[in-house]
Amino acid sequence: MGDEKAAWMRTYIGLGSNMGDRAGYLKQAIDAFCVSSNFRKVVASPVYQTIALTLDGEQQSHYLNAVVEMETRLLPEALLFFCQEVERRNQRVRTKKWAPRTLDLDILLYGDKQMNLPHLIIPHPHIARRRFVLKPLNDLAPMVPVPLPFGKTVTELLTECPDDSVPQMISIRLISSGKTY
Ligand code: ADP
Ligand code: MG
Repeated sequence: MGDEKAAWMRTYIGLGSNMGDRAGYLKQAIDAFCVSSNFRKVVASPVYQTIALTLDGEQQSHYLNAVVEMETRLLPEALLFFCQEVERRNQRVRTKKWAPRTLDLDILLYGDKQMNLPHLIIPHPHIARRRFVLKPLNDLAPMVPVPLPFGKTVTELLTECPDDSVPQMISIRLISSGKTY
């Protein structure tokens, strides 16, 4: 795990699962953040179910998606490493792009930071075209500005989102303390 420590920064992570015990995997991810001293003030969005996007029209199980808001003192690359380690611990196997996955953790926002490294782009490059990301993010942080190249609030991006899928809110509680749904 990365040792670098920064000031506490607010971050939003997108969670997704469409294999196995989907809600269980989302809960495992939240637990991993809650038990680590590198995270505090962990808040989960409602959970939404969405039809899977695929490259070739192949059928896949529906996704469960949520967003978690928290403060972290990991720097962005250490945060990515932490998320990938949690994915691995939860049987995530990388096969082809957009393949079914037990757990996908994407860094959506990290304060007002913009970065464009080969392995880490913040804000997440697909944030504006995925309703299953914007909907739960909007539940937590409607007025938060999404830095350039987007340069709009979360609500503005949701209003303009071209994705015509309809995420269905489902009643699963991801964490039992703090602000939960
Ligand atoms: P996707 O989430 O796009 O379906 P993956 O989870 O397999 O696909 O991620 C592919 C790569 O995206 C990862 O290896 C990671 O280095 C890179 N990546 C770039 N920016 C981000 C980000 N903001 N959050 C998470 N991964 C990112
Ligand atoms: Mg990912």
